[in-house]
Amino acid sequence: MSKEFDEKLVYDILVVGAGPAGLTAAIYGTRGGKSVLVLEKLSYGGQIINTPEVENYPGAKRTSGFELATSMYEQAIELGAKMEFGEVVEIERCDEELPYFLVKTKNAIGEPGPDYEAKSIILATGVKSRELGLPREEQLTGAGISYCATCDGAFFRGKDVAVLGGGNTALEDAEYMAELAKKVYLVHRRNEFRGDEITVKRLAEKENVEFVLDSVPVEILGEPRVDGLKVKNVKSNEERVLEVEAIFVAFGRVADNQGFANLVDLNDAGFFNSGEDCVTKTQGVFVAGDAREKTRRQLVTATADGAVSAMAAIEYLHNLG
Ligand code: NAP
Repeated sequence: MSKEFDEKLVYDILVVGAGPAGLTAAIYGTRGGKSVLVLEKLSYGGQIINTPEVENYPGAKRTSGFELATSMYEQAIELGAKMEFGEVVEIERCDEELPYFLVKTKNAIGEPGPDYEAKSIILATGVKSRELGLPREEQLTGAGISYCATCDGAFFRGKDVAVLGGGNTALEDAEYMAELAKKVYLVHRRNEFRGDEITVKRLAEKENVEFVLDSVPVEILGEPRVDGLKVKNVKSNEERVLEVEAIFVAFGRVADNQGFANLVDLNDAGFFNSGEDCVTKTQGVFVAGDAREKTRRQLVTATADGAVSAMAAIEYLHNLG
């Protein structure tokens, strides 16, 4: 593709995603003297925005995810980064004298949004919730099915609810819902939890929490809202209906990178192929945070990637001249 660029409108670095990785990239990019635009689909903060308590981010002792994300966002903006809301639908590399990128967006109601131009791109797109994979899941999302207990839990005060999964998110969601709901069923496919023992012990002591182990969900009940969940014991094959008005799915996170496969190779699980240098096969495109292949997905590893990717982009821009 060939296109005329107006240099004044071309950002040095365009960051996709305003989670901790993207915001850190914006901080490092602006401090490196570059013009930086951050494009975000929903709101800044990424996954941590829904984390009530963060106590493993060095220097912050104990804070909420919202406070920490807000502080990162304000820091990036005060340093001169710009932020716009819009979902990136396509990024094209323009093969002409200068290898710039054209970034196409759509707005929250799916209409075409503005195009943006940039000399380099940092993809910090994060991950999305793994779905249940049962019929009518999408239809009932928002009508009893939720992927975020801290966002939607308050709607189910005094009701019976199910939390699905055995990791720390499920355990913390169950703990959170135990304070609001009448009864919480914690459904897990094995008889051992993956999450921390200390939280399991606290949950076991709660009178309104019942562990439903060795069990998988097989059918969502209710129309037009959830009024039950059928689960099956994987050892006995026995089925049981949990009469719940909400199902909080906490099955972990999966990659959501197909839209960028033209620019960056994806591994078998759909994560961006890249090493710790955050560099990709496409010159001028860098990746950061949970969206890339890595063994540890933590707040601190995401912000580390933000710094590394921005410094790599700055070096690339200097070499570009
Ligand atoms: P996770 O640790 O990957 O756990 C996902 C859970 O969902 C697992 O128990 C898994 O079962 C279950 N699961 C996945 N797919 C399933 C399916 N199709 N059917 C039934 N069950 C399924 O995800 P997470 O809990 O969201 O945690 C992600 C990371 O964030 C972890 O490293 C976690 O420690 C961390 N985290 C930390 C904190 C904290 O430190 N306060 C809080 C939240 C999360 P199996 O166990 O059988 O695989």
